[in-house]
Amino acid sequence: MGRTSKDKRDVYYRLAKENGWRARSAFKLLQLDEEFQLFKGVTRAVDLCAAPGSWSQVLSQKIGGQGSGQVVAVDLQAMAPLPGVTQIQGDITQLSTAKEIIQHFEGCPADLVVCDGAPDVTGLHDVDEYMQAQLLLAALNIATHVLKPGGCFVAKIFRGRDVTLLYSQLRIFFSSVLCAKPKSSRNSSIEAFAVCQGYDPPEGFKPDLSKPLLDHSYDPDFNQLDGPTRIIVPFVTCGDLSAYDSDRSYPLDLQDGSEYKYTPPTQPPIAPPYQEACVLKKTGRLAKEIRPQDCPISRADALSQ
Ligand code: SAM
Repeated sequence: MGRTSKDKRDVYYRLAKENGWRARSAFKLLQLDEEFQLFKGVTRAVDLCAAPGSWSQVLSQKIGGQGSGQVVAVDLQAMAPLPGVTQIQGDITQLSTAKEIIQHFEGCPADLVVCDGAPDVTGLHDVDEYMQAQLLLAALNIATHVLKPGGCFVAKIFRGRDVTLLYSQLRIFFSSVLCAKPKSSRNSSIEAFAVCQGYDPPEGFKPDLSKPLLDHSYDPDFNQLDGPTRIIVPFVTCGDLSAYDSDRSYPLDLQDGSEYKYTPPTQPPIAPPYQEACVLKKTGRLAKEIRPQDCPISRADALSQ
């Protein structure tokens, strides 16, 4: 497979490189903004789960120009520096990270908190959805400490079986909760974004950092919400009808007439988790699968020894 095949299969991957974005996810935030005007009047924003940093790039470009614009970006992984973005390397589910983020906003609440966090997907849907929900709740907990009243929270969500529980939890804190699917997010993916506007916590609510994961009652019975507790939130697609379809392959010369020229990634990962495996492979030290015929002694022999 040549290096151009991904450009053909994934038009947003290609466009991201050509437009200087670190990841194709930039288009998701831009399309969400087209629909919801997320950046209007925003001067302080938090980007949770930010690496490699395309959402931070969008945020710093969109709000950096608005005088005192300030962006704080957080991720488990190290991220190459970006102008106008303060970085914290840490786990958003950990108390220490949440405290560090909050310190940056001492006395000055944020207007917008975004979270594009995704766990390492296992392929076991229930586990993946549960982990995703936990990340969202950790992000929500941080948001309750830094968001100004009326502020906005946008977070990746997996539209799985128990998603209504999450919507109900979000509705406790925001006057409006919608589920949005940008054109650049593949139809084949259960990914969508909860767009929560009008931060308005219940009277007497005190943000509590001792519970980074708000969801301690996540059990199957509790999740079966019905009657007035079952919330069905509106589903909105973002990105105009002429936007590229993320599930289609496009020829390398695009219909807008732009001529194809291969563009390398804007910012290759600086410390990817697979780095060690690559070094081991290059130096022939990566453990190889041992086939039975390569074993000097049989299992039965080994057991009898
Ligand atoms: N929005 C990013 C961008 O535009 O470049 C892409 C984010 S990527 C899809 C998901 C990120 O979530 C990964 O970089 C991963 O390290 C981060 N992540 C997952 N779990 C996390 C956690 N517990 N704390 C902080 N970051 C986390």
